[in-house]
Amino acid sequence: MPSDHDIVPCTGCYADIRWAITVNGRRQAVNAKPDEAGNLGVYQDGTGTLRARVLTAERPTLEGAEWRAMPHAATCRSPRPQPRRPSRPQRRPVVRPAAWRWAR
Ligand SMILES: [Zn+2]
Repeated sequence: MPSDHDIVPCTGCYADIRWAITVNGRRQAVNAKPDEAGNLGVYQDGTGTLRARVLTAERPTLEGAEWRAMPHAATCRSPRPQPRRPSRPQRRPVVRPAAWRWAR
């Protein structure tokens, strides 16, 4: 069974989710609880990162420590299409005067 320490609330519907990294290196929210109807195999790697892969026709069964998970986007009750982490405000690029290089 997966541990609970990485469960966070969805920013859209406040359901329990976990953030996983897909095989493509993308972040994907999955429902915190294992779901037999899900199409993802999820496991925690040696560094504590949750890894998710889609169970494909070639590898349709869970392997090793994987558990079956549902992509949260499939069940999110938020009106927003995808749960997202609050984005940090963009820092303005620091504009340096170009003249300093030639000042001396
Ligand atoms: Zn949600």
